Amino acid sequence: MRRSLVIANWKMNGSVDFIDQWTNVFTTFSPVSTELAVCPPFVYIRYLQQKFLTSALDINVGAQDCSVHESGAFTGEVSAGMLADVKCPWVIVGHSERRQYHGETNEIVAAKAKIAIEHGLRPIVCVGETLEERESGRTSDVVIGQLNAVLDAIGPEALVTGAVAYEPVWAIGTGKTATPQQAQLVHAELRDSVESRDSQAASALRIIYGGSVKPSNAAELFACNDIDGGLVGGASLKAADFYAIAQAA
Ligand code: PEP
Repeated sequence: MRRSLVIANWKMNGSVDFIDQWTNVFTTFSPVSTELAVCPPFVYIRYLQQKFLTSALDINVGAQDCSVHESGAFTGEVSAGMLADVKCPWVIVGHSERRQYHGETNEIVAAKAKIAIEHGLRPIVCVGETLEERESGRTSDVVIGQLNAVLDAIGPEALVTGAVAYEPVWAIGTGKTATPQQAQLVHAELRDSVESRDSQAASALRIIYGGSVKPSNAAELFACNDIDGGLVGGASLKAADFYAIAQAA
């Protein structure tokens, strides 16, 4: 039995005032069985951690990215070791916006997952196809290729300490959600791919869905056998909506 997992990706949004308001609302909510994390921009990680100290929910803080490098002359980068140092357990790697705007290849994403694991972090590995890739029938090849690059680098057991997020690029921030059937099909393929390497890891691995998840569509997505929760962008900026999604998982 996999425990459901819902993660907020705030992207490049937020401020001290925003966090005060968000947590004032969120910390009044009662516990849910779902495991939760919020990934704010790096500069707010410590502040958000302090805010969550008073919450009764099982909620942690995560980062939206980490460097492939250990340390040194890499201006603007934040290392996995630094995230571990500030006790930030989760890190998103390979988000499609990083792949698209920062040229992150499968190899770079795999290297990020590897360095995250080496520092005891829990990587949330994002995979997903573009609209053009879907329409040309390449969805499976693309997402399995993205997953395999990471599996080759860290192995299935290490991946289970984190999670995989299936995020069709055409559904991110667009208001278009994959149907539960479309998402379930890809999630099952991803799990099968892990199964071919390690069946125990495959049944333990949490594969979450991302792409315009909102309170109104979360329950039907999370009801699918292989969908173990969500990675939530836009809707996570409203504390009440994020909580409603967590309740649905
Ligand atoms: C995301 O960026 O990970 C995401 C799923 O965004 P949205 O929920 O806004 O589509």
